[in-house]
Amino acid sequence: MKIGVLAVQGDIREHANMIEKIGHTPVRVKSIETLNDVAGLIIPGGESTTISKLMKKTGLWEELKRKAQEGFPIFGTCAGMIVVSKGIANYPQQETMGLIDIYVERNAYGRQVFSFEEILSFQGKDIKVTFIRAPKIVKYGENIERLIEFKDAPVLVRQDNILVASFHPEIEDDPSVHQYFIEQMVAKKQVK
Ligand code: GLN
Repeated sequence: MKIGVLAVQGDIREHANMIEKIGHTPVRVKSIETLNDVAGLIIPGGESTTISKLMKKTGLWEELKRKAQEGFPIFGTCAGMIVVSKGIANYPQQETMGLIDIYVERNAYGRQVFSFEEILSFQGKDIKVTFIRAPKIVKYGENIERLIEFKDAPVLVRQDNILVASFHPEIEDDPSVHQYFIEQMVAKKQVK
């Protein structure tokens, strides 16, 4: 399957490598045309205000909102999580897409130390997760499925066709989270 990686800013290559590793074709998405050629989209980590600005400039912001309503699968990691959230719980405020019923606090994990790792349980298996100045989910609706939790907050959650992670699964060797997105969300959507 062709899986898109939003390629305006952030760690695009790591996601593309992970998609390839599990036997699918990564496509760098920078335009509406390429967005319409992929079965699902990953929004990488990076800097969320920059990513949002560039998405608006290219028309991808509005087009992705439209597609999300039709059930198009989207996976946002770190900054990508902020972009698709309902809103920011701390300051400064910034416009978000509102595709998933979560509110996030930017840079909540790793404010003092730049990044840290944890071993957390995902579908009965231990996986390593790395947080890099990561957003924290501080409020969420009842339709949110919590797939991984860390201390007092969920760090991998899903609402229908939208999946978001506070951490960076693309920088690990373990492809479990990408596999979940592609097999449980993108592949199932295609069958419908
Ligand atoms: N701190 C970044 C932001 O708020 C996200 C960090 C990341 O993606 N590694 O946009």
